Amino acid sequence: MSAEPYVPARARLPGLRKAVQSCAGCALHRDATQAVFGSGSESARLVLVGEQPGDQEDRKGQPFSGPAGGLLDRALERAGIDRDDAYVTNATKHFKFSRQRGKRRIHQKPNRSEVAACWPWLAAELRVVDPDLVVCLGATAAQTLLGTTFRLTRSRGRLVDLPESALAGHRHGPARALATIHPSAVLRADDSETELEGLVNDLRVAAEALAPTPG
Ligand code: SF4
Repeated sequence: MSAEPYVPARARLPGLRKAVQSCAGCALHRDATQAVFGSGSESARLVLVGEQPGDQEDRKGQPFSGPAGGLLDRALERAGIDRDDAYVTNATKHFKFSRQRGKRRIHQKPNRSEVAACWPWLAAELRVVDPDLVVCLGATAAQTLLGTTFRLTRSRGRLVDLPESALAGHRHGPARALATIHPSAVLRADDSETELEGLVNDLRVAAEALAPTPG
């Protein structure tokens, strides 16, 4: 189970975006409307990685275009980051859900083997965009990029080196990473204002890391 055979070698983002629609690297493509590839500029210095497309993203074909995306936009703005300067994507490209109470689709977390199967797409995006900083939104993205022993509760909001394996040797220099809470977890929280403040604070660390050094 892997996306590897479906990922065109040396393709740029338009070629990857087209090819992902034919991916059958795991079972998640069967029930989803479409694959939802990343969005943003190839020259972005910042890549934001979430878990998977949600219900609205699955219908629209755009990552972070539902309620969690709206909250992410607000958090980025408060942290001084222009979303247009970032490339936004997910660890898996197809929506995983179960059906309950008639037709309503309920988000299901992708399992470890599905995330691993989809990794070649994220690796290809990172190879092409070649960012200076990757912000992992939630534990799934953090463990995909920083290792399965990474614990968001212990290490969120801290800048760490992005492992070489996450960039497959296509770097022009060292890259860093930072993990924080997923915007949908902010929306679900009992005290969402406090959680939003925490997300904004973590994103401010990212903004500072990307700011030009004086002199
Ligand atoms: Fe392919 Fe990823 Fe979709 Fe699985 S989730 S079918 S690996 S694009």
